[in-house]
Amino acid sequence: MTSFKIYFIFSSEYKFFLKNNNLNFGYTLKRRASIKDILESFGIPHPEIGKIFCFQQEVDFFYIPKPRDVFKVYYHTLPLDISQKSILRPRRFLELKFICDVNVGKLATLLRMAGEDVLYNPIWDDFKIAQLAWQEQRVVLTKDRGLLKRKLVEWGYLLRSSSPDLQLKEVKRVFGLKGTNIFKRCLCCNAVLEPIEKTKILDKLEPKTKKYYNEFFICPECGKIYWRGSHFEYMRKRLLKNGFKLAR
Ligand SMILES: [Zn+2]
Repeated sequence: MTSFKIYFIFSSEYKFFLKNNNLNFGYTLKRRASIKDILESFGIPHPEIGKIFCFQQEVDFFYIPKPRDVFKVYYHTLPLDISQKSILRPRRFLELKFICDVNVGKLATLLRMAGEDVLYNPIWDDFKIAQLAWQEQRVVLTKDRGLLKRKLVEWGYLLRSSSPDLQLKEVKRVFGLKGTNIFKRCLCCNAVLEPIEKTKILDKLEPKTKKYYNEFFICPECGKIYWRGSHFEYMRKRLLKNGFKLAR
């Protein structure tokens, strides 16, 4: 194949991904490649792409560029709506659920605090995470561009910040999290907590907890007991600090 030139115009969100912050450039194509492969070679994993237009026509990831094609690449409209079908993503996701990569483990716990359904296991490798994301229709959260480039990953997000609190803010903004389910999940195993009568767990409670608290919840997976004590207040404050509006 003889080489030819194609042109790109990116929306401003792509400054983070592209070298030299350059949003507008020509590119010499030397091999037959899909638009997905070309964009990923620039450092943009496919889940971070909202829409691709070739001239006025919206195209999918499999489009093979022709000489002098001009592409406009747009970021997602936020908050991101994973329940909508699109040319790039023909499968609808029924509900918002996440899977966290090992490099964002603390974020997984913070999201569970906010009541989100988050799978996380530090022993899973990229293949396992991608496979679970596909099978269970989960959004992949990671700091690893390579994981997001995998075909089995349909929806995903590359965390920009390194601090877990700032990452939580990013996910909240991008996915429009409301925090309405705070204190509904076990922070250790993601299971939905169940109310339990105080009389059934008296032997497991410290004297002060026994004296001051009457409402308790238990994790059906690991048996951990939760109540609205100082740890709950800490979680509440941390979520408030990160922009969640919580009812008392
Ligand atoms: Zn648990």
